[in-house]
Amino acid sequence: MAEIFSFKVLATDGKARRGLVSMPRGEIRTPAFMPVGTGGTVKAMYMDQVRGVGADIILGNTYHLMLRPGAERVARLGGLHEFARWPHPILTDSGGFQVMSLAALRKISEEGVRFQSHIDGHAEFLSPERAMEIQRLLGSDIVMAFDECPRADRPPAEIEASMQRSMRWAERSRTAFDAGEHHAERSALFGIQQGALDERLRAQSAEALQAIGFDGYAIGGLAVGEGQAAMFATLDFAPGQLPADRPRYLMGVGKPDDLVGAVLRGVDMFDCVLPTRSGRNGQAFTWSGPLNMRNARHAEDGAPMDARCTCAVCATYSRAYLHHLTKAGEMLGAVLLTEHNLSFYQQLMAAMRAAIEAGRMERFAADFRADYGRPPE
Ligand SMILES: [Zn+2]
Repeated sequence: MAEIFSFKVLATDGKARRGLVSMPRGEIRTPAFMPVGTGGTVKAMYMDQVRGVGADIILGNTYHLMLRPGAERVARLGGLHEFARWPHPILTDSGGFQVMSLAALRKISEEGVRFQSHIDGHAEFLSPERAMEIQRLLGSDIVMAFDECPRADRPPAEIEASMQRSMRWAERSRTAFDAGEHHAERSALFGIQQGALDERLRAQSAEALQAIGFDGYAIGGLAVGEGQAAMFATLDFAPGQLPADRPRYLMGVGKPDDLVGAVLRGVDMFDCVLPTRSGRNGQAFTWSGPLNMRNARHAEDGAPMDARCTCAVCATYSRAYLHHLTKAGEMLGAVLLTEHNLSFYQQLMAAMRAAIEAGRMERFAADFRADYGRPPE
């Protein structure tokens, strides 16, 4: 285990935790939201803006970066932090999830996954060993074990076999990561719990991961179409199956109300493309629920998108102007909506951290859902 990586729980409120991760490149206040920087960029944002809205860490995608510009090239250029000019912590995923969702002609074996690039059809291969090598070449601070993420609606026997293979891959990931010497001393490795919605399989997976030992533990295989009620039902038990003294990271989640419900259930870290992708599609998240800025009702509205939001966009621009930019397909519309959305997500995390410290997380969650226009849980 990496000695340079520490996690302190500073306060708890019910199952919710307020914590602090410390690493050589910086600290991460939890609960934390990590903006997704797919191919070495958080789309439409300067890194200064990403930092400016309050992000402590961003995510990079192994799958995208291995295909373009290539992990070896990034390493020759000084690593991902230097290449993209983001000196703060970076978490990289292992590529497993994207191979399943984006690549063509995948063939999975015990050794790994053969697939074709979705960009040019080039033949590629990912295994636990290659995924660890790529994340080392990128210079990742938090490395994710290589796993397989089956759809939650697959037959139970298939889900179980897949989970067991992911646990064998987790062990190979640990061995390959530890062989990375200098990088292994300066970075952390997280294991990923699988088992879909099944409590028994999730428990087996958690046990297998703890026997190997990781710096942090992710909950994988959720937010893949099962719906919020099923996800929350799984989160009623899954975080508690993982060690209390390690960070718990719910991968690929989610909508603002997903984050609130998951924090209430003991999750510490999140990532999702939603605030950035939605920003490019004309959707703004607000304390009163999502807004479609293309909607004609904003055309002559001089009010900000969200009167409670403290971001520079809401301080400066009217709904009418943002509606115009979005309707006209202006680049600035995507830029401003992305900045607002990323800021809103960070404001939401800060509000949850304060609510946990004050012992009023449950009240906060109920009020948030009501304001956001969601029925009570
Ligand atoms: Zn705003």
